[in-house]
Parts: sequence; C-alpha cells; structure tokens
Amino acid sequence: MDQALQKRLIEAVASTVIAHAEELTNLDSAIGDGDHGLNMKRGFTEVMADVDGLAAKPLPDALRAIGTKLVMKIGGASGPLYGTLFLTLGKELADPPTPSDAARAFGVAVAAVMARGKSEPGQKTMLDVLAPTQAELAAGGDDLLVRLKTRAAASAEATVPMRAIRGRASFLGERSIGHMDPGARSSSLMIEAVCDVLGG
Ligand code: ADP
Ligand code: MG
Repeated sequence: MDQALQKRLIEAVASTVIAHAEELTNLDSAIGDGDHGLNMKRGFTEVMADVDGLAAKPLPDALRAIGTKLVMKIGGASGPLYGTLFLTLGKELADPPTPSDAARAFGVAVAAVMARGKSEPGQKTMLDVLAPTQAELAAGGDDLLVRLKTRAAASAEATVPMRAIRGRASFLGERSIGHMDPGARSSSLMIEAVCDVLGG
C-alpha cells in the first residue's frame, strides 16, 4: 500500500480515538470503571508518536507494530483484545489487500479476538461491532464503504438494549441495559475512520 495512504489511515484511526476519549470514558463510567477513553488514548498516542515510522513499514509489519504498542499501552481488557485484532490482521492481510482478502483476514482476526476474550457476538462487547462489520465486508458489493460505516455505527447503537455477558459491565447484570458498550463504540469509531479515508 502506498505510504501516504497508510499514514492517513493510521492518523485517522488514532486521532479519532484520541478525540473521542472523553465520550469513551463516559460510556465506561456508566457500565464499567471509566478508564476506556484513557486506555485507548494512551495506546493511540503511542501510535501517533511513531506515525512516520509506521507508515514507512510494509502494511503487515505496520499492523503488527501497532498491535504490539496497543497490547503494551492500553491495558485493561481491551488492550490484549485490540492488540490481538491488529496483530492477527498483520499476520493475515496481503499487501496491498483486495476486498475479498480483507474480508478473510478480518474474519480470522475477529475469531482470534473471540478466542482471546472467550466471548462471542451478542454479549455486549466490541465483538457486536466487529462481527457484523466482518459480515458486511464478506458480503461485498456496491457502496461497500458506506455500508460498512453505517453497519458499524448501527451495531454500536444496537448494544444499548443488550445485557452484558462478558467484561466488567457483566457484573452489573440487568443494570448494564440502556447504555452503549464502550468497546463497541471504540470499534465503530475506528471502522468509520478507515471508511472515511478509503472513501476519499
Ligand atoms: P476494562 O474492562 O478492563 O476496564 P476497558 O474499559 O479498556 O477495559 O475496555 C472495556 C471494553 O472491552 C468493553 O466495553 C468491551 O467492549 C470489551 N471487552 C471486555 N471484555 C471482553 C471480552 N471478554 N470479549 C470481548 N470484548 C470484551
Ligand atoms: Mg474500563
């Protein structure tokens, strides 16, 4: 992939997450321990600090390097899970990726997150955005970027009425109902940022 585009993608994802840190923290304050925004901001500030180095690497190497930074810096439950997502994408994605290869690689990465989290879609976590996005990607077809963006945002919204079965929010039982899952929101923000850059 061309370096300028790779840099714009990394910057867009990192800056979107950083710009929404307060919102993510507020979501996590409602049903968790209120650190998701800060955790994500710490991880992606580290990514942003090395954006030129990351942009200069081949895409698979850049994704693996991002995954390692996220594991080391985010912490909490989401650090190892997002780390796994990026590390697996780095292992699986071709350079440059075709849409069908991206769907396959993203499928392997989502499965790796599920294995790592001992979780599955339907439990009010990031997987409730990652899995439907992967399904949309696999469906392919027209207006894919617009559909991916819409699907990710709607999927995050759809976690509001869900009851948490995994993660800290599950300790709240019924009281986890009525709030968007913070990890679902951070996943949707990242996917929307990628779609915006690729969509021009
Ligand atoms: P912590 O819960 O340790 O404070 P964060 O606040 O950074 O970590 O991240 C919380 C988010 O992590 C949740 O909103 C949820 O989306 C995600 N999460 C937590 N546990 C799991 C799991 N087992 N599988 C998938 N996602 C999870
Ligand atoms: Mg938290």
